[in-house]
Amino acid sequence: MPLDISAGLRSPGDSFPFRQEVTLEPQQVMGDTITFKGPVVLEGQFCVTDRVLHLWGDLTATAQGHCANCLEPASYPVRVAFSEVFFPVGQQPREESDQPDDLDRFAYDGQEADLHPMALTLAVLELPIRMLCKPDCDGPLGELRKKLTQHADQEDMLTAHPFSALRQLLNKDQEV
Ligand SMILES: [Zn+2]
Repeated sequence: MPLDISAGLRSPGDSFPFRQEVTLEPQQVMGDTITFKGPVVLEGQFCVTDRVLHLWGDLTATAQGHCANCLEPASYPVRVAFSEVFFPVGQQPREESDQPDDLDRFAYDGQEADLHPMALTLAVLELPIRMLCKPDCDGPLGELRKKLTQHADQEDMLTAHPFSALRQLLNKDQEV
């Protein structure tokens, strides 16, 4: 549901609190499929000045993907502060060629602002490059490393005490 900004249009310069929930579709990010558990929540204030809508507050969401190390399911709490500008649809300023990634180009239509594009942009940009199931997840490589260390310990025993191993054998012979 778009945000009703009619109060802001009626009283330019006044701020109004808002809370919006936006449902985001699963996204392909860094080779993983990220789903958003529950709605993305946008909470803050809005204000219209000179027909430009200003929106600021916090976005919170829970992103679910897979651990970059062990491929088990992993989730990531997304929390990001935002401050964005919306122009009346069709009246957005032209993008500067040196600012291709400028995000402040959202539009509102009549008395409504669709917050979906903003929520999607903010939430995806906030995702980590590598999601982990737990902060110290070692994954299968960690298991392998552990085995190699154990193996190395046994070899250390042999090289450090070759004679004690031999003496044990000799003692056995004498006992017979
Ligand atoms: Zn993991």
